[in-house]
Amino acid sequence: MPSFPLLFDLGSPGPTTRDIANTVRVGGTAALTEAERRADRARYQEIVCRSALNRVKGMPFEWTLNPYRGCTHGCHYCYARRYHVQFEMNADDEFASVILVKKNFAEVLARELDRPSWGGDYVAVGTATDCYQPIEGHYKLTRRAIEALLRRRNPMGLVTKGPMVVRDTDLLVALGAITTCTVYMSVPTVDEHAWELLEPGTAHPMQRLRAVRELVDAGVNAGVLMNPIVPGFSSSRAKLERTVKAIADHGARFVGCNVMFLEDGTRAHFMRFLEREFPSWLPRYEKLYAKKYAPEEYRKQVQGMIRVLQDRYGLAAREREPHAEKNIEPEQVGFAW
Ligand code: SF4
Repeated sequence: MPSFPLLFDLGSPGPTTRDIANTVRVGGTAALTEAERRADRARYQEIVCRSALNRVKGMPFEWTLNPYRGCTHGCHYCYARRYHVQFEMNADDEFASVILVKKNFAEVLARELDRPSWGGDYVAVGTATDCYQPIEGHYKLTRRAIEALLRRRNPMGLVTKGPMVVRDTDLLVALGAITTCTVYMSVPTVDEHAWELLEPGTAHPMQRLRAVRELVDAGVNAGVLMNPIVPGFSSSRAKLERTVKAIADHGARFVGCNVMFLEDGTRAHFMRFLEREFPSWLPRYEKLYAKKYAPEEYRKQVQGMIRVLQDRYGLAAREREPHAEKNIEPEQVGFAW
């Protein structure tokens, strides 16, 4: 069994994601004996990464950056849950309680950005994990990644549910002055009950909106993604309207939305969550999510509702990233459950 360095041991390079996957395959996450358990009861395992920039297909951008894997926010609908399976961990509790920390992330990114072959493309930050989940306060990997992007004047957008993003306002303002720099704050709903049920580890939605206000006031191009709208939890017209109004009241520059989609590990996790908390909803969900996406007609219905609300409250539609014409995810919105 390989032995992995302690969290603050700077002596040896440390395990890679492959080492971690191999260890967990043999001994489960209990074999990560030197991952540090912190106050939030999650365990943080440092790893070394070989690359930071990750090329993706079928998205409205071609490059992503994710300094962490797993997310203590633990949203039950999170599509990134299924990625934890790549590391031989489960998409349930282990996604939210065993976090991989790419400790050399900023250095690797800086080297990649320096390569003559790097074309300065737009990069999307925080697509597979929240780049401002609590541990970022300790490691500052996201901040250091933005510093590297700023030094190279490289365009970027980031998505988060973490109000900690305001800590980096100075960098975001500076980058936004020279190139594309957009903050997409994720606030699927301001409904407290839905928030408590679906996003157990996140900051209160109003706290996130106050962060948007702070960023916009400082000059950052910041808006809100109501992603995802979850049928039955946050999709009623009243809840959508309260959310859009709150977003407008906090000065967001734009709003976008998606109805939840479910696939692979996320689907299994979400159905288990429903079975536990709302067993009577299961048959309806199984019908609605016979496929990955809710039916198109349903999505269009709520899309229309959101457009009306956007107009009513004077909000612009979501800004599209560069290369957005390549977006193949269906635009999804709310639903009158
Ligand atoms: S904050 Fe984002 S990455 Fe984290 S669990 Fe929620 S949806 Fe997933």
